[in-house]
Amino acid sequence: MTRDGVFEAPGRINLIGEHTDYNDGFVLPIALPHVVRITAARRDDGVLRLSSRQASGVTEIRVVDLVPGAVTGWAAYVAGVVWALREEGHPIGGFGLLVDGQVPLGAGLSSSAALESATALAVTELSGVSLDRRSLARIAQRAENEFVGMPCGIMDQSASLLARERHALLLDTRSMETEHIPFDLAPAGLTLLVVDTKAPHRLVDGEYAARRRDCHRAAELLGVPALRDWDGGLDGLGQDLPERLGRRVRHVVTENARVARVADLLRAGRIREIGPLLTESHVSLRDDYEVTVPELDVAVEALVAAGALGARMTGGGFGGCVIALVEEMAVQECTTAVLEAFAGRGFARPDCWTAVAAAGARRADHVPVV
Ligand code: ADP
Ligand code: MG
Repeated sequence: MTRDGVFEAPGRINLIGEHTDYNDGFVLPIALPHVVRITAARRDDGVLRLSSRQASGVTEIRVVDLVPGAVTGWAAYVAGVVWALREEGHPIGGFGLLVDGQVPLGAGLSSSAALESATALAVTELSGVSLDRRSLARIAQRAENEFVGMPCGIMDQSASLLARERHALLLDTRSMETEHIPFDLAPAGLTLLVVDTKAPHRLVDGEYAARRRDCHRAAELLGVPALRDWDGGLDGLGQDLPERLGRRVRHVVTENARVARVADLLRAGRIREIGPLLTESHVSLRDDYEVTVPELDVAVEALVAAGALGARMTGGGFGGCVIALVEEMAVQECTTAVLEAFAGRGFARPDCWTAVAAAGARRADHVPVV
């Protein structure tokens, strides 16, 4: 067992299955080539010393003093993982951890889960604690839920820790069963265009918690453990539920069905046909789940009008990114269409780039540390 090492964990894009993970449903993310890298060294004095190239200041705290609230700001994502591991009885001591991330912060590409996942891998491996990747994902999620205070589901951490190159990760968030489905667009002449709308995140935490409450309440009223279990159909929901809750249920139920259909199409190599399902997902998130903002809707509209096979917001919503399935030949046209649509409405200039499905978290000591 070595005392130090370099560890990397990627951000993610969710292809489909949005706001389904905390309803015990299905998600289908890919990992991005963008990673958070942590250079880690064990310390003998029981002190956690944290710094990041993307943040100012240094945080120092003894691991025995870790409790929720003791560390705030970005360092809480890292300290929270050490706290959660220790809570579950794993002997994690002091560490020096230097963070350097390429995943844009707060863009909906899950820099937070990448940070947690890299931390979890680093401190367990260098402490000789062997936990499987699913357990690491659960611990990272616990850190974000209980130490940072963000009630996220398990998707982001699972994508960062479990994803494989050129594959999408089909995850049943109830059983944690996974399937790696080939997702290689280039041979089909296709690509995944990402539009980071740069829309300021508004209301994110409060609205996210409100959607969770809506779903919880709806499940209670329908008498099912989670909305994933509702199989009573969607007609006539209005009699059992307030109108708003009915629409939340409709999103979750139809979104789970879309994940299953996309997975089937990908398994069958019928990639082009997933396009319309992506756009349907966006419409559902816009009208039934109400988590889009004008920037997201305008980007999707412009992309589809410019010939994208399908497009949708990805991530929690209220800002962040849109993805589009696009013919390689049409990337330029679609990008121009979005830039023009944004300029015409006075929105900030979005960032547009193409993504491939990359590998999950790994030890990366061979990477030169500069
Ligand atoms: P997302 O996960 O979509 O990027 P979040 O708001 O969930 O957005 O997480 C972003 C937060 O994660 C940042 O505000 C910061 O606290 C933390 N973070 C992510 N990457 C880094 C990094 N490289 N250095 C410091 N903090 C980071
Ligand atoms: Mg996050």
